[in-house]
Parts: sequence; C-alpha cells; structure tokens
Amino acid sequence: MKRMILSMCLLAVVFTLAACSGHEANAEQSVPKAAAPKEKTPAGQPKKKEPDTSAWIKTKGTAKLPILMYHSISKGNSLRVPKEEFRDQMKWLHDNGYYTMTPEEAYLMLTEDKQPSEKCVLITFDDGYTDNYKEAYPILKKYNMKATIFMIGTLIGHKHHLTEEQMKEMVKNGISIQSHTMNHLELNGLTPKRQHSEMEDSKQLFDHMFRQHTAMISYPVGRYNAETLKAAAGTGYRMAVTTEPGAASREQGLYALHRVRVSPGMSGEAFGAYIKNVMN
Ligand SMILES: [Zn+2]
Repeated sequence: MKRMILSMCLLAVVFTLAACSGHEANAEQSVPKAAAPKEKTPAGQPKKKEPDTSAWIKTKGTAKLPILMYHSISKGNSLRVPKEEFRDQMKWLHDNGYYTMTPEEAYLMLTEDKQPSEKCVLITFDDGYTDNYKEAYPILKKYNMKATIFMIGTLIGHKHHLTEEQMKEMVKNGISIQSHTMNHLELNGLTPKRQHSEMEDSKQLFDHMFRQHTAMISYPVGRYNAETLKAAAGTGYRMAVTTEPGAASREQGLYALHRVRVSPGMSGEAFGAYIKNVMN
C-alpha cells in the first residue's frame, strides 16, 4: 500500500513537471511577440563605420556593379563550381585589376555613383557551405580579396555548413557574413508576418554574432514578392539580391538587385569575357 501511495505521488510530481515544462515552452514561444519591439541596434554594438570614399571616382552614368553569385565550391551539379575553376576566376580578377568590394562599399557605389576603382566586383556565396571556408577562403586570402557569404541562420554548424568559429575567422580577414534568412524558405509563399520574422531574426542573429549592422540579404531561391521588398526595408537591411541575371544597378530597386551567376565549366578567360559582356 505504502509503495502504491509512493508511486502515485511520484506520478503526480511527474505530471506537474510535465505541465510546467509545457507551459514554459509555450511561454517562451510567445515572449518575442509580447515583448517590446526589438532594438534595431543591440547594446554595446559599434557605430556604423562608413567606408572612406574621398578618393573614389565618379561612375560613367548610373553605377553598374557585377555581383557574382556562387554557391558551393565543389563538383557535382550546376550550382557547384570546382575549386580549380574558382581559383582561375579569382586569378583573372586579380590579374585584371578588379577591386573586390564589401557590401557597405557596394551600397555607396550603387547609391552615390562613385567607385574606388575603374573595375569593381562584389563576390557572393549563397547558403554558407563548409567548402566556402575550406576551398574558397584560402584562394581569396591569397589574392587579398573580399567576399560576402549569405548564411542561413538555423544551419550554422550543421553538416556541410559553416560554424561560428569558421565565420569569425573569415570575418577578421575580409569576408563579410550577411543574411540568407533563418530557414531558407521561399519568401513569396509566406505570410507578410513570417517573411518579416525570417528577415528580422536572422539580422539580429548576425548583428550580435559579428557585432555588425547586417546590411544585405539574399532571398532564398531568389523568390520574392511586393511584401518581401517592404519587409527587407522594414527590418533594416540596406540592400537585397535576387537571382535575376545581370549587373546590379539601383534602377532595379535596392531590394531587388540582379546578380551574375557563375556556372561550372568556365575557364579564367571565359569567365573574364562573361564579366565584360555583363557590363556592356
Ligand atoms: Zn540558398
């Protein structure tokens, strides 16, 4: 009898605990909605550092910038560019005097029609694959080039994706980490509210992780609608890129910038001709 009472007591305790944790989980989920609006600038974050543009030259007409789009640096499908080809392409940019920009510099170029060099390019990678660190980063470092990786918030440290440590090391050496949303969902299929949270949560995550003002977002699979453009501006990004082909210009809208897709199978020379063609 004693034993039965004891086990009933235990059961009661277990039930109470289960109920509590369930309640806590719910409470946790509802906290962000109930809390005051999130700060745009987290405490202790450095002030926005704008690039020094005093020596920049005027562009001929409205600025046009090739924003290169890479994904994985490996082999296997049309989104993967082999390491050897990537190396030849970076060598071509280097040998031909291209200046590789940061997102902040690209913003100033596109909005103010001035540039640090006659030939500029913004190198970007979508999805944040581990090979960006293992294969692309050593090549970029060798040529002292800057590049931008659009990382998916929930995939940090997951299989085949960058870890926080890898990203922090790269950030110290000219690589910028920007947003590819939290969950890599096609934004045009989401409610405006969900689109907003996908963008805002990832911006906050990267703002805190790298003590930066995350300036740029890449829409997953290039999908967006009118609400996406509003949400990108409303959550504090300065620019967004799509997968629409061509050089970027503010005439496309700063939240719908085009990109130059780099597919596998291009030698350094073929890549060079392709970049020049995009600018004509
Ligand atoms: Zn993607």
